[in-house]
Amino acid sequence: MRTDIRPLQGALRTALPELQLTEDAPLSACTTLRLGGPADLLAEPSDEASLGRLLREAASFGVPVTVIGRGSNLLVRDGGIRGLVIRVASAMRDLSVNGETLSAEAGASLAETAALAQRSGLAGLAFASGIPGAVGGGTVMNAGAYGGELKDAITAVEGLRMDGTPFRYAGDEMGFGYRHSRLQDEGGIVTRVSFRLAPGDPKTIAAEMNELNERRRAKQPLDVPSAGSTFKRPEGHFAGALIEQCGLKGYAVGGARVSEKHAGFLVSTGGSAADFEALMDHVARVVLEETGIRLEPEIRILGEAPQ
Ligand SMILES: Cc1cc2nc3c(=O)[nH]c(=O)nc-3n(C[C@H](O)[C@H](O)[C@H](O)COP(=O)(O)OP(=O)(O)OC[C@H]3O[C@@H](n4cnc5c(N)ncnc54)[C@H](O)[C@@H]3O)c2cc1C
Repeated sequence: MRTDIRPLQGALRTALPELQLTEDAPLSACTTLRLGGPADLLAEPSDEASLGRLLREAASFGVPVTVIGRGSNLLVRDGGIRGLVIRVASAMRDLSVNGETLSAEAGASLAETAALAQRSGLAGLAFASGIPGAVGGGTVMNAGAYGGELKDAITAVEGLRMDGTPFRYAGDEMGFGYRHSRLQDEGGIVTRVSFRLAPGDPKTIAAEMNELNERRRAKQPLDVPSAGSTFKRPEGHFAGALIEQCGLKGYAVGGARVSEKHAGFLVSTGGSAADFEALMDHVARVVLEETGIRLEPEIRILGEAPQ
């Protein structure tokens, strides 16, 4: 059922007149899969103070809050998300370097963060330059590629709990694991992340970034909407290889399809989120039946089916 967001909306218009607020905002425009129904209310705060106020107001009106970043690891269901969706990606993108420490606001893209590190002669984030997420989403997911993971460089994570109170964790308190961090279990919104990097030659780092991005372009279906690898890598296996081995390359449900280029990527050619979820279920069921291996989703599924 649609949450009544009008009292919150009214309070926010008075308390935060500058805040960008959109009612019934189509979330398909905020995800790389280009799927998903509307958010009752979408807010894009420009700084931590307005984010804090936003959270406190939402809590006082009992409106549920969901946070998203660049939407590159998300399947939003066709009915959309009830309550308030906070997008930390279009603003809160400040980046700075001090010695070997790079400080990034959560809305900065991983690409621009890796590019600043490269220009500053700091090695350790080249692997992240082709990951299409933001620093906040990447930290929560412990994004990684080509042998690197964000956890290797993160020294501190700051943010706000859903009631607006601040938190700060050192990197080794974040409970990082494969595509996992404690924030997936306890919630909270990342606002700033500190990375400890190592001195490096900018030309060598640029060459590494180019080579990794070339490998990405050669192997991944980057020209079709996706959320990257749909499933986590099962211990000792590759999800894409298992899916291919089961003869599922090219298999489609409505507009959702197993990529011909990389079977680990389920892509959307314009159907619905329901098609996509049905394809995920089918692929996981066939792989379990044929190999005995259970595929777990890497992508995060949010929202509800249409009522
Ligand atoms: C073509 C393609 C290639 C990809 N390649 C890789 C890859 O090589 N390696 C990899 O790890 N991933 C990859 N991904 C997946 C994705 O880019 C990463 O998981 C990325 O880190 C997600 O960041 P995001 O900002 O898009 O987060 P979203 O997808 O918006 O959100 C992901 C999760 O984080 C939460 N979240 C987002 N922002 C915040 C915040 N500020 N505070 C608290 N919680 C937050 C959301 O609630 C959600 O649970 C790929 C995706 C695509 C489309």
